[in-house]
Amino acid sequence: MTEAKYIWMDGEFTPWNDAKVHVLSHTLHYGNGAIEGTKAYKTVDGRCAIFKLTEHTQRLLNSSKMTLMSVPFSLEELNKAQVELLQKNDLTNGAYLRPLVYLGYGVMGLYHKDAPVKVSISAWEWGAYLGEEGLKKGVRVKISSFTRTPNTSGMGKAKAVANYLNSQMAKYEAVEAGYDEALLRDDQGYIAEASGACFFIVKDGKLITPPNDNSLESITQATAIELANDLGIEVVRRRITREEIYVADEAFFTGTAAEITPIREVDARVIGCGSRGPITEKIQSTYFDVVTGKNPKYTKYLTYIN
Ligand code: PMP
Repeated sequence: MTEAKYIWMDGEFTPWNDAKVHVLSHTLHYGNGAIEGTKAYKTVDGRCAIFKLTEHTQRLLNSSKMTLMSVPFSLEELNKAQVELLQKNDLTNGAYLRPLVYLGYGVMGLYHKDAPVKVSISAWEWGAYLGEEGLKKGVRVKISSFTRTPNTSGMGKAKAVANYLNSQMAKYEAVEAGYDEALLRDDQGYIAEASGACFFIVKDGKLITPPNDNSLESITQATAIELANDLGIEVVRRRITREEIYVADEAFFTGTAAEITPIREVDARVIGCGSRGPITEKIQSTYFDVVTGKNPKYTKYLTYIN
């Protein structure tokens, strides 16, 4: 991680090294928090823009509501803070933004109603989440031994800090076994999502991606579906089984950090040509055109910071 100058904390631009919390902050002990992962890109005209800023900030507020945290800032205030943070940090070549809603110091014990709700927003330069090579050649994936936390046990639709224990266990297991990423199934054995991304296969020219019954409502997944529709590629939303993946023509992940990452192997089965497939490549290049402002039809999704 490359340090930036400031972190926004509850309305103040705080120097990076002073952005500290008390060790008795509630979230550190019991894990209730909500995060976003939002990305800004250098655009084709030399400026910089945040992609789908309002969608991400709205999801942060929704996640916080689901997990019973009342955020003391409005959507507009949080959007403005994110733009100003990039400006103040001179992050004009693009950056990853990490808003966090958390419970601060003051209350111990599980009943958190009186715990203070705090907000921080950090931003830094961050390269390709699954590697530059992964974007070009595809990554290797393991189906996890962990089940994606079922909806009956958590707030699966929230981008809740607590959900990332499940993700971390799956990711660690996959990486230690020599893979790049983990794919988790739901409690009925159907594919849910990766540890930090949603999932698509390509079969007979069609895209297939699971409904968000057991996954985050991925903003990148929604973008990929919209772009595919515009390109005349049919998209089917239905459950996917493990065996179907092994014989898919192509597969890829979608996520703000993962962007459109091709999958070349799953559990020792080579997927399609064993590299980035042609439909994945089309969706990926269209996505990069959209986030960098090359496609005028989609500049409505960009919030320019300069
Ligand atoms: N699922 C999980 C568990 C994630 O952490 C992410 C990354 N935010 C995604 C899916 C993809 O969501 P998005 O496209 O909105 O970044």
